[in-house]
Amino acid sequence: MKKIAVLTSGGDSPGMNAAIRAVVRTAIYNEIEVYGVYHGYQGLLDDDIHKLELGSVGDTIQRGGTFLYSARCLEFKKPEVRQIAINNLRKRDIEGLVVIGGDGSYRGAQLISQECKEIQTIGIPGTIDNDINGTDFTIGFDTALNTIIDLVDKIRDTASSHARTFIIEAMGRDCGDLALWAGLSVGAETIMVPEVKTDLKDVAEKIEQGIKRGKKHSIVLVAEGVMTAQECSNELAKFINIDTRVSVLGHIQRGGSPTGADRVLASRLGGYAVELLMNGETAKGVGIKNNKVIATPFDDIFDGNDHKFDLDLYELAKKLSI
Ligand code: ADP
Repeated sequence: MKKIAVLTSGGDSPGMNAAIRAVVRTAIYNEIEVYGVYHGYQGLLDDDIHKLELGSVGDTIQRGGTFLYSARCLEFKKPEVRQIAINNLRKRDIEGLVVIGGDGSYRGAQLISQECKEIQTIGIPGTIDNDINGTDFTIGFDTALNTIIDLVDKIRDTASSHARTFIIEAMGRDCGDLALWAGLSVGAETIMVPEVKTDLKDVAEKIEQGIKRGKKHSIVLVAEGVMTAQECSNELAKFINIDTRVSVLGHIQRGGSPTGADRVLASRLGGYAVELLMNGETAKGVGIKNNKVIATPFDDIFDGNDHKFDLDLYELAKKLSI
């Protein structure tokens, strides 16, 4: 292995820069040339591929987003389009590609390795949603979690001052991890996630009982995949007459400087991805399980269900928020 490339793809997440840095520095440490592909798979098609040096990743570990930029490139689903990307890698004798992104990005990486045997591919899970098999945590999840905690703590101050119920919408289309972990951390009275059905009549009753017991405010944290905060507020209004406010946290959740946990995770996974390439491995995604770095074939990541929603944690959060 003499030359590798790295790209970031799909939704960005804090810690992607730390992962790129680890890939670049581990490669150079092992006397491998590294190329950065700008704008995800679109950059592979546009030949937007540039050599990176040790200094290219200086002063990046603490920055959110991705300095290689990310993009969605739907054209990449076409085999003839992927061939252009493969040719752009091959003309530079690049033999390894590290893709940092979600499982959509992994699919592109898998197809490249299937369609060109000379190119090995390894995926690194970069998404705030924590929704990828083959890892307990994705890069960016911890930062987004802490951002939500910070925001909800602030909202709680005003909720308490005005004795209001706040319905807060967090990211998470199919995966309720962010809402669950954040909800537990802020002591939300109700956590609504896509994995568990919530009856809004029960939610209304719980809020009512809380008010009777002298509670000054309530927080309902709803993952966007369940319904919008506004829809939730409208539905609750059918059962209970209370003063509610709605807050959609939005893209703030994707930004910011990565937490220590995300920087460490990104560094470990970035370093391991390069080691795998050097060992001739391909079509695998790296991850962390029980605090050990592991690699899982893309097929098992796509078809598996090892990243299960933590029902025990959900039940605990429920018990603690009575
Ligand atoms: P994520 O990686 O966060 O899941 P997307 O699903 O948007 O995000 O995928 C990111 C990019 O990966 C897409 O824009 C496309 O370029 C590529 N991609 C996704 N799915 C496929 C697929 N089935 N075949 C080839 N490329 C894909």
